[in-house]
Amino acid sequence: MMQKEHAEKLNVEELFGRNVFTMSKMRERLPDEVYAEVQRIIREGGDLSLRDADIVAQAMKDWAVENGATHYTHWFQPLTGITAEKHDSFVSTPNADGRTMMGFSGKELIKGEPDASSFPSGGLRATFEARGYTAWDITSPAFLKESGTGVTLCIPTAFCSYKGEALDKKTPLLRSMEAVNTQALRLLRLFGNNTSAKVTPSIGAEQEYFLVDREKYLKRTDLIFCGRTLFGAPAPKGQEMEDHYFGVIRERVGAYMKDLNEELWKLGVPAKTQHNEVAPAQHELAPIYESANVATDHNQLVMEAMKRVATHHGLRCLLHEKPFAGVNGSGKHNNWSLTTDDGINLLDPGDSPERNIQFLLILACVIKAVDIHADLLRQSASDVGNDLRLGANEAPPAIVSVFLGEQLEDVVRQLVETGFADSHIEGGVLRTGVSTLPDISKDATDRNRTSPFAFTGNKFEFRMVGSSDSMAGSTTILNAITAEAFCEAADLLEKAEDFEMAVHDLIKKYFGEHQRIIYGGNGYSDEWVEEAARRGLPNIPSMIEAAPALTTDKAVRLFEKFGIFTKAELESREEITYETYAKTINIEALTMIAMAAKQIIPSSIKYEGRLSNTVLNIRGAIGESYPDAAKAESSRLMKVSMRVQEAQNALDRLEKAEETAGTFRDARKQAFFYKDVVKPIMEELRRPCDELEKLVDREMWPFPTYEDLMFEV
Ligand code: ADP
Ligand code: MG
Repeated sequence: MMQKEHAEKLNVEELFGRNVFTMSKMRERLPDEVYAEVQRIIREGGDLSLRDADIVAQAMKDWAVENGATHYTHWFQPLTGITAEKHDSFVSTPNADGRTMMGFSGKELIKGEPDASSFPSGGLRATFEARGYTAWDITSPAFLKESGTGVTLCIPTAFCSYKGEALDKKTPLLRSMEAVNTQALRLLRLFGNNTSAKVTPSIGAEQEYFLVDREKYLKRTDLIFCGRTLFGAPAPKGQEMEDHYFGVIRERVGAYMKDLNEELWKLGVPAKTQHNEVAPAQHELAPIYESANVATDHNQLVMEAMKRVATHHGLRCLLHEKPFAGVNGSGKHNNWSLTTDDGINLLDPGDSPERNIQFLLILACVIKAVDIHADLLRQSASDVGNDLRLGANEAPPAIVSVFLGEQLEDVVRQLVETGFADSHIEGGVLRTGVSTLPDISKDATDRNRTSPFAFTGNKFEFRMVGSSDSMAGSTTILNAITAEAFCEAADLLEKAEDFEMAVHDLIKKYFGEHQRIIYGGNGYSDEWVEEAARRGLPNIPSMIEAAPALTTDKAVRLFEKFGIFTKAELESREEITYETYAKTINIEALTMIAMAAKQIIPSSIKYEGRLSNTVLNIRGAIGESYPDAAKAESSRLMKVSMRVQEAQNALDRLEKAEETAGTFRDARKQAFFYKDVVKPIMEELRRPCDELEKLVDREMWPFPTYEDLMFEV
């Protein structure tokens, strides 16, 4: 394993953004008027003329080639959830002398045409109509990716069908950003703000991940094919000592984090915080927040870099939501806020929230939006892995609620009860009690780690998202539902005769009507499940039960109103959810079958053989007359034999169920069959196999255990 010198000097300022075609590089390399035009389009939207695009392409290519690039790619985010790229070299047709030039045109920059037929489209695009287009997203900078294939110029793009239907995650995200911008500006104007020109959602993605040793990883078919363990008895020690969270970072992991940071800084990703997480071998990285679009692209780069850098350290990075049973899984917190181009954070309550009417209206709108569209928000955080997490005891529950904190809850209570709020709870000072330590000023509100949607000072933190998911889905929903609430408020307020009165009444009305979504207690408790049911809040346990939220009348109305999704696009996304679910569980079931049939059961049988020989030998040596001869050995043999039988029975049932699952034609019915029939049998197979792991000689066990994987990184 290669490890760089610890003491090697690193100039982060110089390194940062080295592989990005930043605004400052554009300013250096583009004629003034072209640079101004690019800036204008980033700000206001519009199309770059082909002439200007040629100039930008030329400059971008020159920069890329100077830095070793041989290829370029339109980098996009199809509905597989990971990024896609098809590399083209800059090599152009050789001339008569057999010489070539490195070429790249404006047309190649602006538009690409990957064959779209092999990406999920949920029926949107019949295969005979395979055309798909990628279109340059000028708001996210181009960058260079260094990998095994050399250096590639990556151009962030949106991916659409021939008819303009979104086939990716970026297109709806960009549409939703425009919607929330337009509607938020309407509200700002009502409050007399005529100077802010744009409102942009910002997001910060806290990313959790696991690291395991690559050699051990390669011995586990389940990790290779499914990214999670499908078998495994708990190690003697789990996370109960709470000694891993914020613990000292091990050397090997530290070296990995160091390289990862450098990779990310070069790509302009503002990686900021790193620490060990709760579960053994679990870690977290958080970058500084950025515009939603760029942050979403950057989170994809973070996930890619995490995997790539791991291979250089003899490690594998697991981004699955639940790689190991019995210890915490991984999530991705979506920290979301709305900021104007002149630096006003619309979610900043200021010193006296009770008098900050604009803030209270924005807050009331967000709460209304979350209450009305709790099902959509839940849906946006669902993926197959997250089904193993949401509602389990370490993750936010599958019930959406809003945590405001003591201070704001108190303001809301005053407003709802009396119509007026004229005081707020102060933060005060935390006395450390040690004369040499400073006293610390305290936040007015303690944290609540169990809330899925928590107000944290000047942003909301949506904590349900899964670690492997794109940031795009949940951010699109947050933008869309708040755009709708802002729009409805603006419709009313723009017509009001007495604005002051009207806005006051509206805030009170919204808080009153949607108070049920506000919850400050323990979100992990059983009482909350009951209480939420009493309040009529949806509790949607699985991804496929969440999927219909996409196509309810209220969802279709919302998305069509703001041009974010058409009904057809929504239906396709629902369909893809069922397909993805069925395919994933199918792979998991087949992997279990292979591991049980070819590894666990045969190894256990071998052990049985050894035990039975031992029993016979002992009895032969001691004599049948001695009643306790080989008693321990034979009782062990009995136990193993019973578990093998149970495993074999479950295996037979699973194989049968798999056969049936393959006969479905309807994606939704098939997905539910996997959830309701196949998954429970997978559990039945796992149980005796994990028991066998505890019984069979360690030397004979066919793959690394939880102990090996989590504690020896
Ligand atoms: P917390 O301690 O509440 O988790 P941190 O300061 O650690 O907050 O930040 C967590 C993430 O939230 C980081 O990615 C950070 O950049 C991001 N963040 C902070 N402020 C905002 C904001 N106003 N809008 C969006 N994200 C933010
Ligand atoms: Mg946080």
